[in-house]
Amino acid sequence: MSLSREHCLALDAHDELAALRSEFELPRGVIYLDGNSLGARPCAALERARELIGEEWGNGLIRSWNKAGWFTLPTRLGDKLAPLVGAGAGQVVVTDSTSVNLFKVLAAALHSQAERDDKRKVIVSERSNFPTDLYIAQGLAAWLDRGYRLRLVDSPAELAAAVDDSTAVLMLTHVNYRTGHMHDMEAMSALAHERGALAVWDLAHSAGAVPLALEASGADYAVGCTYKYLNGGPGAPAFLWVAPRHLAGFRQPLSGWWAHASPFVMQPEFSPAPDIRRALCGTQPIASLAMVECGLDIFLRTDMQRIRAKSLALTDLFIRLVEQRCAHHPLELVTPRDHGQRGSQVSFAHPHGYAVMQALIGRGVIGDYREPGIMRFGFTPLYTRFVDVWDAVDILADILDNRAYDTEAPRDAVT
Ligand SMILES: *Cc1c(COP(=O)(O)O)cnc(C)c1O
Repeated sequence: MSLSREHCLALDAHDELAALRSEFELPRGVIYLDGNSLGARPCAALERARELIGEEWGNGLIRSWNKAGWFTLPTRLGDKLAPLVGAGAGQVVVTDSTSVNLFKVLAAALHSQAERDDKRKVIVSERSNFPTDLYIAQGLAAWLDRGYRLRLVDSPAELAAAVDDSTAVLMLTHVNYRTGHMHDMEAMSALAHERGALAVWDLAHSAGAVPLALEASGADYAVGCTYKYLNGGPGAPAFLWVAPRHLAGFRQPLSGWWAHASPFVMQPEFSPAPDIRRALCGTQPIASLAMVECGLDIFLRTDMQRIRAKSLALTDLFIRLVEQRCAHHPLELVTPRDHGQRGSQVSFAHPHGYAVMQALIGRGVIGDYREPGIMRFGFTPLYTRFVDVWDAVDILADILDNRAYDTEAPRDAVT
């Protein structure tokens, strides 16, 4: 395969997902490689926002809870999202944030384990997990005050030895936010089960990026973001999945009125809904929640296998071009080359990673930066073209060759 800009244009010409790019509003002159952090805006979202704010809120007022279907949005959107993560109808809700949902499922998992075997006190995870996941686990363990503690491993290879008969829960993020490393969900869930533990998965960097088979994989609980690869909008509510076998016993501590069997009977005693609504808490940010549907609707026009094939082609091309054109610079690939262990992002470490990323953003190539020294490039097959990959590497090579970055510039709060 000869690599040239023309070759990339030819790949775009034969790309069966190419037409979906027009479903997104992307600013001119920008190559957006940060859809893993905040997905681009579906064109339909602006019209939907006008309708919701102008018509449903403005004219419908309180009637819209019924008439516009606001009240049932968490379950209706959950059913629409379910096929993307390999779940069935009635198993997913879209609600709250990933952090809050993790708190709920982790508490539910610890509770069901304690009922069975009260000596299991350890939550196993990775030190490299996204910090909020570790903070939530630490906070919950401290709050419960019953001897729960976290055991953190330094690499995926250490997990097998770390999960034992003291383990209550194996809590993993499927695709690592920093390195892009992907776990084998089926193997890791099986490992947890062999040792009597439960498997809780965070799919923040997986949903909409890689094919998932939650039900078939044997996972117990899962949470994930909608504002990353699912393009739901900034801060859009997250999702929560409970394996059907756990639903009847699912107890979570944020037992607000939306989780009640009959919210409008207004009883003083809590009685959980018989279905997945028991994972809800209270009133949702409807304007934001409704936007999630615009992102999900685009996925209905394709499938995760096609998205995965293009994702791997894009990330392979990026790795190959960077290694070819920037070989003499101190860049280190931290993302696995093995397709079976790679999500939909590529990360390169560079001694001046932050400054180089700022220079890239200044020239319209938007990725982001994560400590320590890591430049992150997310590839979203729905709207990223092969020629974007070529052009992004062209600009990266130019910045590195000319040292056109400022190592003294002050840092923004959000990197
Ligand atoms: C992005 C991300 C989150 C974000 O959680 P919020 O509650 O939405 O802030 C959580 N976990 C992981 C692994 C993430 O990548």
